[in-house]
Amino acid sequence: MAQARKIVVLPGDGIGPEIIAEGQKILEAVNERHDLGLSTRTCVFGGAAYDETGKPLPGETLAACRDADAILLGAIGGPQYDEAPRELRPERGLLGLRSELGLFANLRPALLYPELADASSLKPELVAGLDLMILRELTGGIYFGQPRGIEERDGERVGFNTMVYRESEIRRIAVRAFEIARQRNSRLCSVDKANVLEVSELWREIMIDVGKSYPDVELSHMYVDNAAMQLVRAPKQFDVMVTGNLFGDVLSDAAAMLTGSIGMLPSASLDESGKGLYEPIHGSAPDIAGQGVANPLATILSVSMMLRYTLREDAAADAIDAAVSSVLAAGCRCRDIATGHAGEHVIDTQEMGDAVLAALQAGEKA
Ligand code: NAD
Repeated sequence: MAQARKIVVLPGDGIGPEIIAEGQKILEAVNERHDLGLSTRTCVFGGAAYDETGKPLPGETLAACRDADAILLGAIGGPQYDEAPRELRPERGLLGLRSELGLFANLRPALLYPELADASSLKPELVAGLDLMILRELTGGIYFGQPRGIEERDGERVGFNTMVYRESEIRRIAVRAFEIARQRNSRLCSVDKANVLEVSELWREIMIDVGKSYPDVELSHMYVDNAAMQLVRAPKQFDVMVTGNLFGDVLSDAAAMLTGSIGMLPSASLDESGKGLYEPIHGSAPDIAGQGVANPLATILSVSMMLRYTLREDAAADAIDAAVSSVLAAGCRCRDIATGHAGEHVIDTQEMGDAVLAALQAGEKA
């Protein structure tokens, strides 16, 4: 039996608890079958925690997350919290968790399963076989920069934020990006706005400097407006893209659409030791919460990423990825990825979790 490792599960709000139930089903199955020795503990977080304790990130939840090897999060937020004080909104809990745990590197793969090429908003030939990794800096930049606020100036209200990156912050994300590029096809595109922003000028200078230690990785630079255009024009030109917090937020959602559904995409946020927070990239989808129709595959694939990047259990991760592929090949679709083609059957959240579980068990017997 491997050494006991602790996983904290944060279901959160909206569809969070529905999709987490399916992710946990798969996690428990591989834990047992691969003898991983994982223990899980569920904690309140986000709007659910605000309702229960008055804070989106209660001290007990933060302490459990600090003590954990990895964290699996569903999603947080919802319109019912729009009127809550800004500092107590669910999103603040997530920003706080990322920053308290030093989760500075956000990995967002955009991988297009051949069966879903038709579900993309782009022509299938432009996206079939897409395999792109976006690395977004997560704890710096304009989302955290000071000063920030809304104040009265010259008789009118002014809103302001500060986009700021320290050299050390750029350097550590650059190192992570070059390392990831090296594990893939050794092409790294750094996205900035160096023609307008000084913060981007520094970003570019540091990327070039760090690149000197990675002569085997081909480094290129692209302005963010062009990168947005290229992502929807010819996305297969990219291998790894690295960018700051704000640009990465937008570009990774655009990349999500290339793959057909936001309900398919997992993500990882890592600290310097490799500890990570794993979550689907989508939000709490209040429009479909409680209906049992949310796609749980992004969460199930987040479990797979957790096994691969933090727990170093590649065999268990491969088994999950293979089970998801075989379920899609068999025509199982949640509503968001259904195209109406013959051979597809549209199933609900729980049925999708059960189908992946059955494929996992069948695959491991074979
Ligand atoms: P969203 O990602 O929740 O939903 C966007 C659209 O995608 C909706 O139509 C939704 O139904 C659909 N969708 C999302 N996940 C799906 C899934 N698994 N299966 C099928 N369809 C899915 O984004 P939003 O509507 O802009 O935000 C809703 C709430 O979520 C807000 O409060 C926002 O702040 C929050 N949010 C949280 C996170 C997070 O927890 N990391 C991320 C983004 C947004």
